[in-house]
Amino acid sequence: MSETIFSKIIAREIPADIIFEDDECLAFRDINPQAPTHFLVIPKKPIPKLSDATSEDQTLLGHLLLVASQVAADEGLTDFRLNVNNGAGASQTVFHLHVHVLGGRSFSWPPG
Ligand code: AMP
Repeated sequence: MSETIFSKIIAREIPADIIFEDDECLAFRDINPQAPTHFLVIPKKPIPKLSDATSEDQTLLGHLLLVASQVAADEGLTDFRLNVNNGAGASQTVFHLHVHVLGGRSFSWPPG
């Protein structure tokens, strides 16, 4: 997999506002927030997009969701939205799997 801006954040080659890290993943604030709170949870394993994950990644994918929920709680959020863009046609721009976590405002449905 080619290097992305997120692999550079993991390697500390570029700065980010990191709010959580463990052996498997990293959470950091989105540089262009779409809500008062907007952070990303990414695996350290370089999976380009969700549809590239396999059954081997089952535990890791569950871990990303639990971390998203825990960090949202740490940020004081009770209601929040998770978003995963899969592929350019779904507005994915960085091809390193990431879960968007947005909160601090209301959200409509369906999403745009
Ligand atoms: P996506 O469109 O789902 O691929 O989302 C990529 C997200 O990464 C966007 O919300 C960007 O604002 C965010 N982003 C890009 N570069 C950085 C960076 N250096 N630090 C934090 N967030 C970033």
